[in-house]
Parts: sequence; C-alpha cells; structure tokens
Amino acid sequence: MKTEFLASIDNTWSLFLDRDGVINKRIVGGYVKTTAEMILLPQVAEAFSVFKQTFNHIFIVTNQQGIGKGLMTESDLQVVHAYMLQQIATPIDAIYYCPTLAAENSLMRKPNIGMALQAKKDFPDVDFSKSVMVGDSPSDMQFGLNAGMKTVYVKGEEDFDGADLQVDTLYEFARLLKK
Ligand SMILES: [Mg+2]
Repeated sequence: MKTEFLASIDNTWSLFLDRDGVINKRIVGGYVKTTAEMILLPQVAEAFSVFKQTFNHIFIVTNQQGIGKGLMTESDLQVVHAYMLQQIATPIDAIYYCPTLAAENSLMRKPNIGMALQAKKDFPDVDFSKSVMVGDSPSDMQFGLNAGMKTVYVKGEEDFDGADLQVDTLYEFARLLKK
C-alpha cells in the first residue's frame, strides 16, 4: 500500500466520504429511506471529530438512485441526512448526492466526478491532489482515482487492490491520522 500520503495530510486537505457502508450500515439491495434505517457504524462520530481537527473540508458524496427509482423522495433524503448529521455531531461542509438512475450515467453519479467538481465550485480552495476519498465500493475508489485523489478503501463485499490504503472501518482511518 502507498500510505506515505498519511504523513502529509494537514489542514489544507479535503476529505470526501461515501455514505452507505462507510458512515452508516448499508442496506443490501435497498435504500435508507427513514431515520430508523439510518444506523451509524461503530465509532463514526469519534472519527468525524478527528477529521474535523485534521482536514480543511469534509464532504459526503453519495449515489442515491432510490430517488430516481421512485422508492423515496428528495425530502425523505433531507430528513435522513439531518438526522445523520445530528448523530455525527460534527459540522461538515456539504453533502452531495446523485438521485439519478445508474442507467442514465449522469456526470454526477460516481464513479464520474461531478460531485467532486461541484465541491470545488462551491469551495474553490479544494485541491484534488490534496484530497482523500474514502469508500466501500470499487466505484468510490474509481471516483477518487478519476479525480486524482488519494483513496482509502473500507473493506466491503468486493476486493479492491488499487487503493492507497485499506482499512476495516472509518474509525481505523481516523486512528491512523491521529499518529
Ligand atoms: Mg458505499
């Protein structure tokens, strides 16, 4: 693994986080449509408190095609996100989500980098060469690679060999930053 980048992370860096399977329990084959289904993974709130002390910006970038499928509405998602942020208890800069169907291949849908470009538009000091993408799917890692970011793979169901760092949990990545 290419973990040297960890030592160079400072408060000029940005953090991009996938949501499902990284921050909260992923619902296999389904979507988090209600606050009851938004269950944070262990020590996620502690991880965010470390990230806040380390990074300049923290973003969440999440594909939510449950909206495009008509299984939930954007306002359901807003309610779920407000609840999630309350549980995390650390302010972040923005949550970007892509509601469109995978088949539409939107620029905004990971692994395409539209959400990263939007973050840079909203926060011009974002530098992708000083950014880290954390995710639990190969398409998250591809998003990070496509944008020129460092990549951290939270081990999911599939193996992925191309990340700079592989961890079991988000908190494990936070713990490495504390050193
Ligand atoms: Mg995920």
